[in-house]
Amino acid sequence: MEADVGAALAAGPAIEEEEARPPPRRRPPPPPPPGAPRHLGLAAVVAANTSAPPPADGTNDDTDDNAAAPRGADGGAADGSGDDGGGADAEAAVAPPPPPPQTAAEATEFYTAYRSLSAIQGRMAGLAADHPHLASTLRIGTSARGRPLTALAIGHTPPDAPVRIAVLGLQHAREWVAGLVPLYAAEMLVRGAGDHPDLAAFLARVQLLVIPIVNPDGFVHTVTTDRLWRKNRSGDLHDCPGVDLNRNWGMDWGGPHATSTDDPCSAVFTGAAPFSEPETAAVRDLLTAHDGVVGFLDFHAYGQLVLGAWAHADAAPAHLPDERAYGAAVTAGVNAVHGAGYLYGSGGELIYLASGVSTDWATAANMSALTIELRPGGTGVASSVWQTCLAAGPWSTPDLS
Ligand SMILES: [Zn+2]
Repeated sequence: MEADVGAALAAGPAIEEEEARPPPRRRPPPPPPPGAPRHLGLAAVVAANTSAPPPADGTNDDTDDNAAAPRGADGGAADGSGDDGGGADAEAAVAPPPPPPQTAAEATEFYTAYRSLSAIQGRMAGLAADHPHLASTLRIGTSARGRPLTALAIGHTPPDAPVRIAVLGLQHAREWVAGLVPLYAAEMLVRGAGDHPDLAAFLARVQLLVIPIVNPDGFVHTVTTDRLWRKNRSGDLHDCPGVDLNRNWGMDWGGPHATSTDDPCSAVFTGAAPFSEPETAAVRDLLTAHDGVVGFLDFHAYGQLVLGAWAHADAAPAHLPDERAYGAAVTAGVNAVHGAGYLYGSGGELIYLASGVSTDWATAANMSALTIELRPGGTGVASSVWQTCLAAGPWSTPDLS
């Protein structure tokens, strides 16, 4: 299951979000001069959105979903070598991978704007191609609408005493920053290892399995059609599609704090069964196929919170007595960098109880698991996305009604 996805990407996957694709990046541009407009990538996304208005009947036409790969007999799209190749247009989006940044400024420039799915996939492939001794891409599965699910494996771990940490991003489609943060962290670790012996030593004994975009279908849908979409895009696209991936995990699935077990139209629909979704099943299978996964981080936005187990109950996990101290230490470490003031606690303490979430599954599997709700603090759905947009740069006013 660990086939390198780099070659597949270079061959041109069938699926790309057509409307959001930026021009192929031959070399990252230099940082803009002071006072110059920034975030050109985001501006391109806005332009793409405004050039494709929704249909007059007010329904989503789901052109992004309908552009997916040919469907296989099992309802999933053709996978891996079964893809139709995607043609020259798909190749142009990801092949060849962008050249490696030559300076620290070029390495971070990618993260000054939100990026399309194809750009993120290209970045992952480029990082692996540039640092084959430290990073590789793994094709871990196929999304509900036929897009590749890709992980980055970085670092090494001794076979006889493996230590691995899983890092997830963007289970929830609209939480864009939660996809770029884990990718940024992975890239900085890999690129920094050459200059910093402590990072090199860390990556010599710990492997990170990073899945920056757990929900590619939902992400594309937020770019092309509905900025506030949360779920994946499984099921009948014309009859309440989608499952909340972070209610679909197997620990306490459908439990007392799952509020939408029987309502597929809900934004927090659990799905028909634990791990019914290819996205959650793929991550589960990746982690259960590897020994020594002791850590699990799941990035979301927003709230400025570090949430530990349990999510579904007002209790600490009795089988992991050090979890509270661990979570508090992580939070103190985060706050020591920028003084941002992240709070640590369980979901019940800080926000709400929830059933079927990823970190509870990981905790039950003896991983030290934390949900990171990125900055800023506060609560609210629409306002969270809007604040993210404001922080990123120019943006057309979204319809928050
Ligand atoms: Zn979330």
